[in-house]
Parts: sequence; structure tokens; C-alpha cells
Amino acid sequence: MVSIENLPELANEVLGGRRLDLAEALEILALSDDRLLELLSAAFVIRRHFYGKQVKLNYLVNAKSGLCPEDCKYCSQAKGATSEIEKYSLLSANEMVARAEQAVKNGASTCCLVISGRGPSKREVQTVADATREIKQRWPGLKICACLGILQTGQAEQLRSAGVDRYNHNLNTAEEHYQEICSTHTYQQRVETVQAAKSAGISPCSGLIVGMQESATQLIQALFALRDIQADSIPINFLVPIPGTGLAANALPLTPQYCLKVLCVARLICPTVEIRCSAGREKHLRTLQPLSLYVANSWFVSDYLTTPGQAEELDHQMIRDAGFEIETIPGLSEAEVEAPCAAATACCGGSA
Ligand code: SF4
Repeated sequence: MVSIENLPELANEVLGGRRLDLAEALEILALSDDRLLELLSAAFVIRRHFYGKQVKLNYLVNAKSGLCPEDCKYCSQAKGATSEIEKYSLLSANEMVARAEQAVKNGASTCCLVISGRGPSKREVQTVADATREIKQRWPGLKICACLGILQTGQAEQLRSAGVDRYNHNLNTAEEHYQEICSTHTYQQRVETVQAAKSAGISPCSGLIVGMQESATQLIQALFALRDIQADSIPINFLVPIPGTGLAANALPLTPQYCLKVLCVARLICPTVEIRCSAGREKHLRTLQPLSLYVANSWFVSDYLTTPGQAEELDHQMIRDAGFEIETIPGLSEAEVEAPCAAATACCGGSA
């Protein structure tokens, strides 16, 4: 077994099935910035093995905004948050379909239908299911990810039968840190929802938010938990301290180099899964955003739930300039995509 002194060999061992332990993961996270390129190179070997140079783009539809009774301290939609955000009740199925068209035009291959709240009502599940059926009829290859909060018995099955491909519910942080960021529901309830989605045959998506005063050990524990629940997709958000939220004044300072190391350690712990460089990419990685592509195989494109992203043209340009390729929707004609490259010349869980 090699030490982290030999990162290329470590990457080969991870490809061979080696699982990092806590001490190793912490050592990698604490590597000097001078070794960042070496670490990115090792992570890229794994990323390229499983995903080539493909980048999956995901487009968020905020289908119900604000008015949430939960108190997640990172969230601008939470009870008690005084953030200036748009607040509206559930969009109609037709409105969701119209937003999905924008996902297609922006080159996304997954459309994420997200609502605020503790968990969906019967009507909300029905509306999302109706929208999903219509979207699938119009763009059969477009993947639908639902993010509706804590699910009740039978709701995952209802979504699955409507054609929902993926369900997002983030664990957000380590179990031992969870009470520090939310008091109205538990970490265990989040785990159970991810498991319910998986049991219903929906691909589980679950990630974390970096920068919520977690220790390095808690960050690694969260990644191990995501490995253990077998999330197929792991969005890694970097906390955007939105004014008016509980964590606005005491977010951890994040550097672009640290954010990249978090992505690398996630790739080494969970080598086979989709890793998405998510909310906070623009703010915290800044000019180093393209380097995240050597580790993550997925980005959000366009805006987040209550904060703006950057222009989709710029995202496309960064991806192409770095030599990566955007995953396309099978069977879609070029006319249906606005091809932003011509210019090149999250609810519940931190997709702020
Ligand atoms: S993360 Fe989801 S459950 Fe928590 S406050 Fe925000 S909208 Fe509500």
C-alpha cells in the first residue's frame, strides 16, 4: 500500500478498489497548495477512467420558493431567514415544462425540479409527476431529478412511475454536526429519504455543503457517509453566505485551492460516482473553475435556487476551452439547443 507521497500510485490503487481511510483522507485535504496540481492530476486519472472528458450539465428549476417551515441555517428560504428572495407557491405543471425547455436550450441533460419545504404534499407530488410525464413525452432523453424534501411512504414510487430518474436529498454535513445547522429535522430523516428513493428504483443523489463550520474530520465523515449510502451523484456545494441566513456571518473562509482539494478527496473516496461542482463554484473557485473539471464530471448551468450563477455562455466556453465535452441529450436535434458556445468565441440542500 502506497502513502499519499505517491499520488499517481494512489490513484491507481483507488482504481483497483482501494478505499481511503480517515487518516489518509485528512492528509490529502491538508496537502500543501504546492502539491495541488499533482493532486488534480491523480484525481483526473480516476475521473477520466470513469467519465472520459464528458461534462454533464444540470439545470435547476425553483418550482416553489421560500415559505419553508424548516430552519436550515444555510438556506435563504428557511423559517427565520430575512434574505431578500422571491417567494412563490408551487408552479403549475405547465410552468415546469416551460422551464424544462430552457434546460434543453442551455445544453443541460438533467433538469432538476426543486421545491422548498420540509416535504411534499400529495398535490405537490402529483404536480411534479404530471410535469415529469409531459417533459418525458417532449424530450425523452432529458433526465429528471426531483428535489422535494423528506418523502412519505409511497411518494418515491409515485415519482418513479411518472418517470423521475433521480432524487436529490443532501446529507449536507456529518451526522455529529447536523444539529448545529438544523433543528427541525434530523440527519436520520435525510438518510431515510435517500434510502426510500433508492428502494423505489430512483437513482439517489446526495451531497454536502462545505464551509458550515464543520471540522476537516466532519467533512470526511460526510463523504464516507455518502459513500456508504451509495449515492450515485454527489453535489458538492461551497457555502454562499447569503445575507439574512443563520450562517451568513460565520461561514468558514474558503480558498479556491481548498475547494479543489475537497473535490479531489471526494473523487478519491467515491471514485465511480458523478461528482458535481455545485453552488458556490463561481464565488469560491473564481478563475480556477475550469480546474474543477479535472475532478468533477458535472456542473450546474445558469442560476441556482435563489442566487445567480454565471452566464451559460461562459460555462460552455470554460468547458470547451479546457478541452472537455458537454454531454448531450440522446436524440435531440441541434435546433433544439441554443448552442451557447456560439458566444464562446438545489431546496433542499444547498443549491443556493
Ligand atoms: S434547505 Fe430545504 S428544508 Fe431546509 S430551509 Fe431550505 S427549503 Fe427548507
